[in-house]
Amino acid sequence: MSPSAALKATAVVPGVGYAPAVWARPRPALPQEGTPIPGGDVDAEIERFRTATTAVSERLAARANRAEGSAAEVLLATSKLTLDRGWHRAAVKKIKGGESADAATMSAIEKFVEMFKAAGGVMAERTTDLEDIRDRVIAELRGEEEPGLPAVAAPSVLLADDLSPADTATLDPDLFVAMVTALGGPTSHTAIIARQLGVPCVVAAGAGLRDIASGAMTLVDGASGTVTVDPDPEVAAAAVAEAARMADKIAAWEGPGRTADGDRVQLLANVGDGNAARIAAQGAAEGIGLFRTELCFLSAATEPTVENQADIYATVLKAFPEQKIVLRTLDAGSDKPLAFANLEHEDNPALGVRGLRISRSNSGLMERQLDAIALAGTKAGRDPEAPTWVMAPMVATLEEAEWFAGLCRERGLTPGAMIEIPAAALMSHDLMKVLDFVSIGTNDLTQYAMAADRLSPHLAYLTDPWQPAVLRLIDMTCRSGRDSGTPVGVCGEAAADPLLACVLVGLGVNSLSAAATALSGVGAQLAEVTSEQCAAAARAALNASDADGARAAVREVLGLA
Ligand code: PEP
Ligand code: MG
Repeated sequence: MSPSAALKATAVVPGVGYAPAVWARPRPALPQEGTPIPGGDVDAEIERFRTATTAVSERLAARANRAEGSAAEVLLATSKLTLDRGWHRAAVKKIKGGESADAATMSAIEKFVEMFKAAGGVMAERTTDLEDIRDRVIAELRGEEEPGLPAVAAPSVLLADDLSPADTATLDPDLFVAMVTALGGPTSHTAIIARQLGVPCVVAAGAGLRDIASGAMTLVDGASGTVTVDPDPEVAAAAVAEAARMADKIAAWEGPGRTADGDRVQLLANVGDGNAARIAAQGAAEGIGLFRTELCFLSAATEPTVENQADIYATVLKAFPEQKIVLRTLDAGSDKPLAFANLEHEDNPALGVRGLRISRSNSGLMERQLDAIALAGTKAGRDPEAPTWVMAPMVATLEEAEWFAGLCRERGLTPGAMIEIPAAALMSHDLMKVLDFVSIGTNDLTQYAMAADRLSPHLAYLTDPWQPAVLRLIDMTCRSGRDSGTPVGVCGEAAADPLLACVLVGLGVNSLSAAATALSGVGAQLAEVTSEQCAAAARAALNASDADGARAAVREVLGLA
């Protein structure tokens, strides 16, 4: 790559890293399909397969023992999956049919990868775990070096086509000052762990990443998603210094969320279960802004009973007994299918029967969930005065909002809706006549406004909430909120971007909800700007002609250029 050339990719974890690049060790070359057992001894080949999988599994388990938190969980899960009976049975069957252990490993794993891909969404992103196991086992069978993290002695920028969750989990943040992958998406396992480790991270950089040679000085900006090779050393040093200054501010910041001139902005956490809620309660979160209830039931074959659901919801409610909690009813479908709620097959599930729409064909499903939410409040001994808000996902029409609000009010629950379909933003003025609050889901709002699959690594330039078209829909919603006195929150990933948070506040958003780990970065940034500056930032972003232009204009307005 030419000096100072910059690659633009998807920003995942803000922060700046500047160091020589180092490439992850390559995956082993895959064997020819159906390669026969050398020598033909089936029993010995099965034995070799078992020894190799056990060695890989034990190595991962040993690393799990040395790790903590979700890193340990990921390693342990991968260690267990390495010995999973499902794919072992398929592999042993192939070996018995005469295939070599590495060819059998490849085809057995391939079968499961196809199954995960067909399930789509979150499951599809987990195919990286399976492929990682395949590569480790094949390398072990051949006596080759394990693929993945290289051994480095000095701070480096890690480059990889894709990183396995197991590699990311054991990454030492003191040695790897930033990471960039050619593939992957913002919601992949790798991205989630990078966020937890606080390592600046950029994904979906594309094939151009391959042009960066190991050893080239590389500057990674995890906030803007740029990767620059051989930058001007002074520019790089200034970027690193600015990032370090911000890191100090973040460490020193104490909530609650407010602008420099004291305007309050509630900072809330996105969670998927009681454990995440308890962790959020130990940090900066002032409550929960999005409890994705569907994540509790991804592996349930049948609808959980009201009692069962209430017990699960109560674990989240207990974590914030007096604070605001926003529960979202099942957003089943598309990237999060539920066996008991979704159609078996849809040609285009992102535009299909998902979110609130599942209730049309499943009589009583919504009513039972709302009963469970009401019951959970009692079970958790929640303060009756504490705001327990409930919102429906994928609302598109006034009729849907009216129906949902009626069901909530019958049960004493406060009704709201996600604004994540352009139709809902356009109709927000009317929706607010029947709802008590709204929360903007920028992930889907961007996907649907830009007609670009949010999981596609090829369309990251479109699935960018900085797109002025998306900001204009948010602006429209905030104006409706101001006119009617209805609170407007944001709970998509946009709320985790400190710079964009200033724009959202300037547009009139009252609360921001994001991964708990992102909240102090957002809070520290808001504490640096006045509401007047936020309003100016919002105007600049709305008037930009594209996403990069919006970022640049806002940086300039806020004096960060
Ligand atoms: C969104 O769409 O922005 C959102 C918060 O919902 P989810 O990411 O769960 O679809
Ligand atoms: Mg959504």
